[in-house]
Amino acid sequence: MKYLSSRGGMAPVTFSEILLEGLAPDGGLAVPESYPQIGLAQLESWKDLSYSQLAFEVLKHFATDIPESDLKALTAKTYTKAVYGSEEITPIRELFDGLSVLELSNGPTLAFKDMAMQLLGNLFEYQLARVNQELNILGATSGDTGSAAEYAMRGKKGVRVFMLSPAGKMSAFQRAQMYSLQDPNIVNIAVEGLFDDCQDIVKSVSEDLEFKQRQKIGTVNSINWGRISAQVVYYFNAYIQVIKKSAKKMGDPVSFAVPSGNFGNVLAGHIARMMGLPIRKLVVATNENNVLDEFFRTGVYRPRKSAETYITSSPSMDISKASNFERFVYDLLGRDPVALKSLWDGLAKDGYFDLSQDARFKEVEAKYGFQSGSSSHADRLKTIQEVYKRTGTLIDTHTADGVKVARQFIEPGVPMVVLETALAVKFAETIEEAVGISPPVPEAFIGIEALPQKVVNMPISVEQVKNLISNATGL
Ligand SMILES: *Cc1c(COP(=O)(O)O)cnc(C)c1O
Repeated sequence: MKYLSSRGGMAPVTFSEILLEGLAPDGGLAVPESYPQIGLAQLESWKDLSYSQLAFEVLKHFATDIPESDLKALTAKTYTKAVYGSEEITPIRELFDGLSVLELSNGPTLAFKDMAMQLLGNLFEYQLARVNQELNILGATSGDTGSAAEYAMRGKKGVRVFMLSPAGKMSAFQRAQMYSLQDPNIVNIAVEGLFDDCQDIVKSVSEDLEFKQRQKIGTVNSINWGRISAQVVYYFNAYIQVIKKSAKKMGDPVSFAVPSGNFGNVLAGHIARMMGLPIRKLVVATNENNVLDEFFRTGVYRPRKSAETYITSSPSMDISKASNFERFVYDLLGRDPVALKSLWDGLAKDGYFDLSQDARFKEVEAKYGFQSGSSSHADRLKTIQEVYKRTGTLIDTHTADGVKVARQFIEPGVPMVVLETALAVKFAETIEEAVGISPPVPEAFIGIEALPQKVVNMPISVEQVKNLISNATGL
C-alpha cells in the first residue's frame, strides 16, 4: 500500500514514511492510493478474534511495509486488558430504543484518543529504532490531546515530548493527569498565556526550519495517518459485536453516530465503510460549533475564525476548521487531486466553498451514508439526565451530543452505535449541573491531584522554549 497527497504533489510513499510526518510537502494530507476491500466471508472469519488480533488483520492492509510478525507484536502489546480495563477493550453498552454506546474511553486518559495514540507510541518507538533516529514531539494542548500523547509516549525510547499548556487554564484534574508524570522523556511547559499563545509558539518553532531539522521536531496531531488507521479498527470491532449480540447476520446494516470536531474519528468510519463494512449511516454530531453539520446539510463549508468559535461544555469539539475533512472531500470529488487543490485554493481565497449545486454533493447521503445534526448545552443536560434516568449510567458531554443527534436518525431494525469519546468524570461540572451527582472517579485516578507535579513555568517566549529543547537534547 502506498500513500499519495490529496493535492497531488507527493510521490507515492509507504506507511512508515508518513508515520512520523504531518502534512504532505504540498500542504495536502496523505491518503491511501486505494481502500483495501473486506468481503463478508472475511468479516465472518474475524468473528472470534480478540481486539488486538482484529487490529492486526485490519492494519496489515495499511502498514504493508511493516513485517507482519512485528505488526502483530505491536498490536498485541498495545491492546491489553491492563491498559483498557477489559478483555473486550471496547465493550458495547446498550442504552434504549436500539441505541448503544461503544466504550472507547477506558484507556489511560479516559478519552477515545487513547485508542489510536497508544498504538502510535509503540509504532513510533519501533520505527525510530528501525531508522536509528530520535524524535522530539512539540505540541500545544488545552487538555485531552496533550495528555493522550504523553501517556502514549512516556518511557518510549527515542521519543521526547515537549507539551505546552496554558498555565492555570485547565481543570485541576487535567493538570494532575499531565503534570504528575515523572518520566524523564516527558516535559510539561506551563505558558503564562492562553491556548492560542501556546499554539503560536509551536507554529513559530516549526517555522524555523533549521531548528526544526536539527532538533528533529515532530507532532502527533489528528491528521497523523497512523492515528486514523488505528481508529478504523474499532468500527470493525463494534460491527462484529453488534451482529453477534443481536439476532443478525454479517452483512446486515449498522449505523454509527460520532461526536465530531476535527473529523478524525468519523473519517475512520468512512474508511471502514469504503472498505466494505456494512455501515448504513454515519451520523456526524457537532455541538454549537456546527461547521461540519452546516456542510452536510447545505454543501457549504465555511470554517470559522477563532473569535467566532464558541466555548462550550463539550470543549474537545470546539473546533471550527476540521483538519481531516479534506480527506473525505478528496473521495467525494472522485479522488481527483486537481479538483481538490482548486477547491482548497478557493477556500483559502474566499474563506468558504459551496458544493450545493454539485451533483457529487447530492450523493453524500446515498453514496457515503453521511447525515448530521448539532446539539446545544441544553440538549446535553437533557440527554445526560435522560440516559441517567433510564439506564442508571452517566455519559460525558461529548457523547451526549452524539446520543442527541443519533436519535434523530434511528431507523427501525437498524442498530445505532454512538461512539463514547470520553468518560463523564472528565467533565464533572456539567454532569453535576445535569443530574446533581458527581461521576465516579476510576480507581487509578483517586488522589491524583495530591501527587507531586513536574512542570516548567514560562512566559510567552519562543526563545525560551527553543532553549529548553536545546538544553534537553544537547543539540
Ligand atoms: C478529540 C475529541 C473529539 C473530536 O474528535 P475528532 O476526531 O476531532 O472529530 C470528541 N470528543 C472528545 C472527548 C475528544 O477528545
